[in-house]
Amino acid sequence: MKKLALHWKILIGMVLGVVFGFIMVRFDGGKEIVQDWVKPFGTIFINSLKLIAVPLILGSLIKGVSDLKDISKLSKMGGKTILIYILTTVIAVSIGLLLVNTIKPGNSITEKTRIELVGNYSDSTQKYKDEAASQKESGPLQALVDLVPQNIVGAASENKNMLQVIFFAIFFGIGLILIPESKSKPVKDFFDGFNEVILKMIDLIMLAAPYGVFALLAALIVESPSADLFKALGWYALTVVLGLLLMIGFYILLVFIFTGKKPNEFIKGISPAQLLAFSTSSSAATLPVTMERVHEHLGVDEEVSSFVLPIGATINMDGTSLYQAVAAVFIAQAFGMDLPFGVQLGIVATATLASIGSAAVPGAGMVMLVIVLAQAGIPEAGLALIFAVDRPLDMCRTVVNVTGDATVSMMIAKSEGKLSDPNVKNWDDNYNVESKK
Ligand code: ASP
Repeated sequence: MKKLALHWKILIGMVLGVVFGFIMVRFDGGKEIVQDWVKPFGTIFINSLKLIAVPLILGSLIKGVSDLKDISKLSKMGGKTILIYILTTVIAVSIGLLLVNTIKPGNSITEKTRIELVGNYSDSTQKYKDEAASQKESGPLQALVDLVPQNIVGAASENKNMLQVIFFAIFFGIGLILIPESKSKPVKDFFDGFNEVILKMIDLIMLAAPYGVFALLAALIVESPSADLFKALGWYALTVVLGLLLMIGFYILLVFIFTGKKPNEFIKGISPAQLLAFSTSSSAATLPVTMERVHEHLGVDEEVSSFVLPIGATINMDGTSLYQAVAAVFIAQAFGMDLPFGVQLGIVATATLASIGSAAVPGAGMVMLVIVLAQAGIPEAGLALIFAVDRPLDMCRTVVNVTGDATVSMMIAKSEGKLSDPNVKNWDDNYNVESKK
């Protein structure tokens, strides 16, 4: 086990977790045993990753921005980053719409199944509708107002406020660039060291990853609804998964065209982050690992990765927006509605904005889907239709979200002349090296 590369260890942990879950549901009380004795280890693992997120963003972004030494460089990189993020999201939504209009998964839902699903799950979806309602009430500039925290300690105390922490870190970094070097040096040195400590902590957490994902997947299996429902929603789920696979192919192509990195090298470099995204369903929880992989295994300079990735984890969700497009049209089809082209264009716009507003946590895409549905005039009750398969699809779309961020960070690094060709070492070799820089 010791010599295996990290992604294999995680994969083995995942497979064993699924098998273990299936075995345990067969026994009386097996589900409770997994919930009481196995699931907590998964929760601890996710918590430890989330624990690192805020200090990581603070440390690496402050260091990254202050290393730029020049504010115009920062705004140039910022503009490019946002533009590419929006472009990839629009492409994702368009792929989703193309597929759902071609495959028409909603037409395979019978009236009976529809009534059954809506009846069974309408209670469970209420919380998503409530959350979306509170977001809808705010004015058009609310997102901008929310960007600026009134109190940094308050902002840093909630992982949901990642954008506020990012704002503070960039602002602080700019301040650091503008003061004389004699004053800024000790502060920069402090954040340099702070950053190293955080990276080492991520290394340590990742040693537990195979066990963490085992626990997460075992719990997911014992808690998932019956297989019959998956069959009824099979075409819908397939459409989403097909779209997501196309997106992964698209990223591989982008990376190859823009940076020349071969597909297998790219996948090998990013796969531990992808597997973790799949197991945790949270791009925020995966962020520390995405940053480490992209920097150490894909050659993106920290100056770029520390800026592009935290922003991407919060605003760039291509998998989520693709899913929202497919889900919205699927629900319309299942309710026998015909969506004109104009309405579908509206879906592109709202799904793009909604994915920017979605938090990087499990199920966030569903909250924002409520807004997409409302904008397109599709019944909200339809949320109950897709609820049963949402978790597995959430896992898959999170993989795409994370891969998209990594891809864009490589493209930006290349364009800034900040992409090196690291001698791709595996994680375990790195782990024993004292200092990686
Ligand atoms: N779970 C997704 C993420 O964290 C968001 C979503 O689509 O629900 O990236």
